[in-house]
This record gives sequence, C-alpha cells and structure tokens, in this order.
Amino acid sequence: SDRHSRYKRILLKLSGEALMGDDNFGIDPKVLNRMALEIGQLVGIGVQVGMVIGGGNLFRGAALSAAGMDRVTGDHMGMLATVMNALAMRDALERSNIDTRVMSAIPMSGVVDHYDRRNAMRYLNQGDVVIFAAGTGNPFFTTDSAACLRGIEVEADVVLKATKVDGVYTADPMKDPKAKRYVHLNYDEAIEKQLGVMDLTAICLTRDHQMPVRVFNMNKPGALVNLVVGGEEGTLIDG
Ligand code: UDP
Repeated sequence: SDRHSRYKRILLKLSGEALMGDDNFGIDPKVLNRMALEIGQLVGIGVQVGMVIGGGNLFRGAALSAAGMDRVTGDHMGMLATVMNALAMRDALERSNIDTRVMSAIPMSGVVDHYDRRNAMRYLNQGDVVIFAAGTGNPFFTTDSAACLRGIEVEADVVLKATKVDGVYTADPMKDPKAKRYVHLNYDEAIEKQLGVMDLTAICLTRDHQMPVRVFNMNKPGALVNLVVGGEEGTLIDG
C-alpha cells in the first residue's frame, strides 16, 4: 500500500452501543464484520491496534443499580458484558484472518487471557490485535477510563474514541442545528466546557499523562482509516 500511518500504535475505544446496529440490545454481526474490515485495513498498513469495547449494549452497572440492584454487582455484570463483546469482536476479526488476543482484567481461565502489560506489548509488537476486556477490573469506572488507562500503559500514540457523531460539538448536533464541531480542544477546555466527551476520570488521566484523544464517527465508512493516514476527522483533544 502507498498509504502510511501517522501512528505506530493506537488504542481504539468502541462503545458497546456501537455493536447494536439498528437494534436496542445485543450484537449485530453486520456491524462487527464492517468494523473487522476497517480494523483489518489498519493492520494491513502496519498499525498496531489495541482495543477496548464497552458493554452498554448488554448491561450497565448504573442502570441496573437504578432498577434496584447492588451497584458493585451491576458493575461486575457490566464488565462481564465487555468480555462477551470482546469475544464477538475476536471472532469477527479472526474470520477475517486477523490474529487477535483478548486480555481480561478479570481472570477467566480457559476463555480469555488474563491482562498482563508485558505480554500485551509483545502481542502488539508482533502485529496481533489486542482487545482489553473487563474494563479496569474495578467497579465505579467506565470503559472510557479503561481505554485511556490501557492506552497509556501500552504506550499507544493516541486513544481513538469512536462515537455516533463526527466529533465534539458546541451543543448536541442532533438537537441544535447551529452546533459546531471543534477541530481541536485542549484537556482543560474539554473538562471546563462540560462537553461530555468522556467522564472526568478518563480525561484527567489523559491530561496527566499527555495522551492525545481523537473523537471520531465510526458510522462514517472509511473515517477510521482516513484519520490514521492523516486525514482530518473528528476532534483532537491534547495539550
Ligand atoms: N464497568 C466497570 N468498571 C470498568 C469498566 C466498566 O464497572 O472499569 C462496568 C460499568 O457498570 C459500565 C459497564 O461495565 O456501565 C459497561 O461499560 P461502559 O458503560 O463504559 O460501556 P459503553 O458505554 O462504552 O458501552
């Protein structure tokens, strides 16, 4: 290929909801296959891909807790949901002949590998896609925080947060036709303007460790590859 990546190693964060497609729950195989195709293109141009997938298409601790369940139990269910999503994504990637590892923060012997930072770095270096599952392994955190944490740990060049819109806007673009997209924000602006990019724990972690974050639209075909080869997509948060 004549296309070169501006990143050697990325950490791609997909929300669980991104896997639902047009449904309200669960996993749409068509969506998985399309994502596997785009991730395969990145691997094809030599990008090392780490991934974190959310669990919101199945369970969220906060929602279970609002319905009366113990919060920590709900968070455990949410984290297990991310493992199911990771298994589905691994399956789609491997059907596309992309070697994939799932490493879980919660040990699950016989199903997936246990997260180990040095092994993760080794797999990434050999070109395997590594999916970090079970979030941070702790309740009261989110998979956005897990994505930033793993991205920093494995020394990714950037955290790419896939969303349903083209980036971060001055207001909700679905509701306000005058809403404008930010091309760039610094960490403090992202926090002060309360733009809801990610939770505070996640943004503060990236700020403290100077990890750039790019928010982009994963529903736009080709956007992921375009931004990795240097195209302008979404909103960059750094500095
Ligand atoms: N979760 C958790 N600790 C973590 C990451 C996730 O307890 O480190 C739980 C939490 O209940 C969360 C659920 O797993 O609601 C699914 O993750 P998240 O809501 O971040 O998924 P997304 O919104 O990205 O689909």
